[in-house]
Amino acid sequence: MPLTLSDLPYPADSLEPFIDAQTMGIHHGKHHAAYVTNANKALEGTPFADQTADQLIRTLGALPDDKRGPVRNNAGGHVNHSMFWESMAPSGKGGGGVPSGELAAAINAAFGSFDALKDKFAAAATGRFGSGWAWLVVNGGKLEICSTANQDNPLMGRAVAGCEGTPILGLDVWEHAYYLKYQNRRADYIASWWNVVNWTKVSQWFASAR
Ligand code: MN
Repeated sequence: MPLTLSDLPYPADSLEPFIDAQTMGIHHGKHHAAYVTNANKALEGTPFADQTADQLIRTLGALPDDKRGPVRNNAGGHVNHSMFWESMAPSGKGGGGVPSGELAAAINAAFGSFDALKDKFAAAATGRFGSGWAWLVVNGGKLEICSTANQDNPLMGRAVAGCEGTPILGLDVWEHAYYLKYQNRRADYIASWWNVVNWTKVSQWFASAR
C-alpha cells in the first residue's frame, strides 16, 4: 500500500494566532504532500513498497543504496509531519497548558521542572543550524531532548540521525514551518508553539514508548 497523506486533525486556521492558516495550508498540503509523493515514487515497484513509514525509517540500512537517501528524506518527512500535526491542538481546546500525571513526573525527574524542559527544548530548536527538528524522546526509559537535521528522526538511530529513542514530541524548525508569520524570528515561533502543544497526546505517546 502506498503511503497516504491524512487530513489535518483540525481546521488549518484553528492554531491561529500561534501558527497561521496560510503556513498550515502550505505546510500540510504542499510540503508534507510532496514527501508522501516522493517516498511513494522511490518505493514503487520495490519489495519495500508495502512497509509502513515507521518500518522504513527504522531499517534504512536494509534499503538498496539508490533508495536510501530518498526514503530517509521523504519517508522521514512523512513520519515527522504526521506526528507534528497530531501533537498540536487549538489553544485552550486541547492545546497548551502543562503536562500532567506520569509525564509531568517524568519531566520533573529528568529536567527539574516543566520550565526547565521548555528552556532545554528551545535551546535544541534554536541551536539546530539550518533545517531540522527538535525532539523529546524516551530513550532507555528516560526522557531526553535532542535535535536532528533535515527530515531525520530519532527512530533512524544515533548512527544515522545523531540522536536515538522513541519520539513523543517533535518541533519542525524548517523555515517553511514559520517564515510567513515569524520571518527570521525562530525563537518567537518556538515560544508561541507551546500554546498549541497537545499534552494529552504526548502523554499517550509517552505511555506507549515506555
Ligand atoms: Mn515541515
